[in-house]
Amino acid sequence: MTASYSVLAKDNYTLKNVRLETGFITGNTGVTGTQTALFCVEIEAGKIKKLFPHDDQLTDAVDVKGLLMLPAFKDMHVHIDKTLYGLPWQALSPTRQTVADMIAYEQEIIPELLKTSTQRAEQLISLLQHYGTTFARTHFNVDTTSGLRSLENLQKALENKKNSFGAELVAFPQHGLYYTASAPLMQEAAQMEIVDFIGGLDPFSIDKNIEKAVDFTIQLATDNNKGIDIHLHDTGKEGIRTIEYLMEKTLENPQLQGRTYISHAFAVAQLQPKEAEQISEKLAEAKIGIVSSVPFRGSVMPIPILVKHGVEVLVGNDNVLDYWSTFGTGNMLQKANLIAQLYGWQTEFELSRTLGFATRNVLPLDKEGTVQWPKGGDHADLVLVNASCSAEAVSRMSEVVFWAYAGKLYQNKYIFPHGRNDLN
Ligand SMILES: [Zn+2]
Repeated sequence: MTASYSVLAKDNYTLKNVRLETGFITGNTGVTGTQTALFCVEIEAGKIKKLFPHDDQLTDAVDVKGLLMLPAFKDMHVHIDKTLYGLPWQALSPTRQTVADMIAYEQEIIPELLKTSTQRAEQLISLLQHYGTTFARTHFNVDTTSGLRSLENLQKALENKKNSFGAELVAFPQHGLYYTASAPLMQEAAQMEIVDFIGGLDPFSIDKNIEKAVDFTIQLATDNNKGIDIHLHDTGKEGIRTIEYLMEKTLENPQLQGRTYISHAFAVAQLQPKEAEQISEKLAEAKIGIVSSVPFRGSVMPIPILVKHGVEVLVGNDNVLDYWSTFGTGNMLQKANLIAQLYGWQTEFELSRTLGFATRNVLPLDKEGTVQWPKGGDHADLVLVNASCSAEAVSRMSEVVFWAYAGKLYQNKYIFPHGRNDLN
């Protein structure tokens, strides 16, 4: 299936009948509801120019008929470069159990996948957009099988989508730095302007040397003025040791603080609450963020503890239909919904806060109920959803009807079946 949309307005225009949150309704038990009102929103040169009360007399405005406007969604961990989205359905193979098994499989199939990966990357971006995501942090493979071709194909897709989608890129040594000899390729990728983050993969279990792999990653990031975002599936004491070593190095290199992330960090999910509190405190001190796809295979990430200690928690779909996982829907509201269900966040206030996991922490109202988004001058990256408030949007995974990226307004049309033979 692939998604379709049409351009509705560009450059300078006004939206009318826009529902915006204006405050919380409170009672004896705290927040009992969310107050909204209808506005006109003037867009100019990619930004929100001004907001004023709804005026039905404006005949040349785009009427969004009372839909709720929210900040556009951001997928902060996805692999757009190697999706199987668009190909026939295939569940995971029971024979591939470990990351090493997966690396061997990738070495086998990547040459064939690369022939058509640009097309599938664009289809996946369309799917994300359909659900109101206009920005992603995407990892791309840097390995001895694909070289830098995965990046080249991804760049083509992003170029074709540049009017409607933005991205930041992580150079990801999916086959290890040393497990296969990918370190020189990573050095090359790190020098490229388009690359924002240096990735990594399980320094203990894949590269067999935590210090050597982390030191190399730190060096690449500091030499080339990049951030870091490493995949860490390693659990137990080795997983924790990797996190501790990365924290130590980040504290030594202040320029990496606030731009260093650990994706998955499953080791943290195995900790007792007290240990999770301690590591959260240290992560906050080193300004290292955690990026999660919120999995729950018998253990659940302590997201509430991380957030309580001020650790930046980012969320992404990770794998939207590929040979690593088939469970990514591409819908960030679904991720927020999952978080709300997992942690029992079900009141109006709690649900309204949970929206932040879909928007990279941009919320219409602050904790006190004061409007903080949108404001004149904000980037016009927004969605218009069929909901009465943020809490409802999270709880009901409300439909996205319109979305705007850099001020250009698009209308979702429908999802249609696509040709299923593009790899044959
Ligand atoms: Zn990943």
